[in-house]
Amino acid sequence: MVMKTVRCDCGFVVRSDDDDRLVADLQQHAHDDHHMNLSREQVLAMAQLEPGPPAPHGKG
Ligand SMILES: [Zn+2]
Repeated sequence: MVMKTVRCDCGFVVRSDDDDRLVADLQQHAHDDHHMNLSREQVLAMAQLEPGPPAPHGKG
């Protein structure tokens, strides 16, 4: 599972490991707060992967 974060220009943040949830939540926010209709592609383009937890057995 890879967590993704989308940060709206207004400071609203959505975090999820589920693209569908991420897109739906930000689309809802953009519609309600900004009267904007964002496409799935637009939301995913804004998404950033969160760094994963440190590996339990680091190699290096
Ligand atoms: Zn916003």
